[in-house]
Amino acid sequence: MVSLPYPPRSLYYDGKPQSANSGKSSQNIDPSTSLPIAEIHSASHSDVDAAVASATKAFPSWSQTPAIQRSRILLKAASILRERNDELAAIETKDTGKAFSETSAVDVVTGADVLEYFANLVGGGGLNGETIQLRPDAWAYTKKEALGACVGIGAWNYPIQIALWKSAPCLAAGNTMVYKPSEFTPLHSTLLAEIYTAAGVPPGVFNVVQGGGDVGAYLTSHPDVAKVSFTGQVSTGAKVAASAAGGMKYVTMELGGKSACVVLPDADIEQAVDGAMMANFYSSGQVCTNGTRVFVHESMKEKFEEVLLQRMQYIRPGDLMDMNTNFGPLVSKPHYEKVLSYMKHGIEEDKATLLYGGPGKPEWLASAKDEVKNGFWVQPTVFTNCKDSMRIVKEEIFGPVMSILPYKTVEEVVERANNTSLGLAAGVFTKDLNLAHKVVAQLQAGITWVNTWGESPAEMSVGGWKLSGVGVENGRRGIEAWVRNKSTLVEMSGEVPTVFAKL
Ligand code: NDP
Repeated sequence: MVSLPYPPRSLYYDGKPQSANSGKSSQNIDPSTSLPIAEIHSASHSDVDAAVASATKAFPSWSQTPAIQRSRILLKAASILRERNDELAAIETKDTGKAFSETSAVDVVTGADVLEYFANLVGGGGLNGETIQLRPDAWAYTKKEALGACVGIGAWNYPIQIALWKSAPCLAAGNTMVYKPSEFTPLHSTLLAEIYTAAGVPPGVFNVVQGGGDVGAYLTSHPDVAKVSFTGQVSTGAKVAASAAGGMKYVTMELGGKSACVVLPDADIEQAVDGAMMANFYSSGQVCTNGTRVFVHESMKEKFEEVLLQRMQYIRPGDLMDMNTNFGPLVSKPHYEKVLSYMKHGIEEDKATLLYGGPGKPEWLASAKDEVKNGFWVQPTVFTNCKDSMRIVKEEIFGPVMSILPYKTVEEVVERANNTSLGLAAGVFTKDLNLAHKVVAQLQAGITWVNTWGESPAEMSVGGWKLSGVGVENGRRGIEAWVRNKSTLVEMSGEVPTVFAKL
């Protein structure tokens, strides 16, 4: 048997690795070569039951652990993550195909930031309720109480970051979690569980199960689960929300987008092009908040495209561990085929003008090392003269495909930007800050940027509108998604209000 570079991944519960009893396994693939890198053992229903039982058993004690103590443990985990940043980032690079220049600067760091943020928030009294004096002799108080055993289900584009954005507020608030990574990017999951254990997180508080959609579906319908936090496609999110609704479970849904990047007529063109490139080619376009509909005022379209074509030369595919590489392959074969089919559709059916790239093999691959020739590499692609009715403009591609849409007036662009069932993100580029705020206020999206694109710090609550999601992650409001309210009214007058008094 050929030995794979990484040890097999299996379950993790009761504070230690556990073997799966399903007998089913799959191979995890390095997207840059299409070669297998690890064996992944899928969970059976009884494995999932065991992980949920572990989370259920750990809940009473963890939820009663003083917040300051939970905080101390989670801060220790954040510090281990930072110490092991490069090692974890290199694993994320192998698993996702994203360049190490990205994973080492963003993926682990932004996860650790959120862990630190929520640990500090609850340690500093962020879970306190309210005291309400109703009358001199009556008052009410509210408490924020943990929900129970929760489920986190992640997408493949930011695996460790998503795992942390879910588990950090979940655990900080006193809940326990069973986490399922995407079967395409499972490597981080048990490592994160080991880090939590090493930091002092008690057995059963953070658990991992591996597997595909069937495992996710069984988890979300599990009767002992109090909440499901899901990141993925709108169509999957709808199934997960429907399944959770049957048991009246709390849900947070972080779903797809088709966001508008609006370049207003007075924008600094260089700045707008940089922003549009970040909004389309960062992580090879596999970012949920990507601004793939780039609306450019007709007066500046020619210049915008000229600067863009110059800048496209700075996209550097290649050895993913080389710090100069800033563009990797797509995550998996099915996703690669999906993105290529959109590129072909853009040319053949939508009849958009191909300005750059397209579905052909990237030229550099011809002289690249043999081992990367079968990787899921595509060309960064730009279509122009696009119309709102085109499929490439309407549907989320989740790859490096930019659509340029010319417009005439600000009123028109706002209306067109909002003409979608999705509402994850949007942004404007302009020198006129009054206009920026006026336009942003009209854009139907949960996350908006002015003269920048993509930054999502721990302090900022983020979540999609319309079909792009339910609820928010991060920021002060992020913790509210992991607690329920208990109100208590205390009457001290000695008189119980009644309508049943003697006449
Ligand atoms: P999917 O919806 O395909 O999968 C997401 C997760 O759900 C995976 O772990 C998947 O397992 C699992 N799953 C699949 N079917 C079910 C089911 N019936 N019940 C429960 N779980 C299930 O999304 P992708 O992984 O393709 O991720 C890309 C999508 O995620 C894009 O649409 C992107 O916009 C969105 N996204 C949104 C973000 C946000 O914050 N709004 C952030 C990042 C991504 P498996 O993969 O093993 O099949």
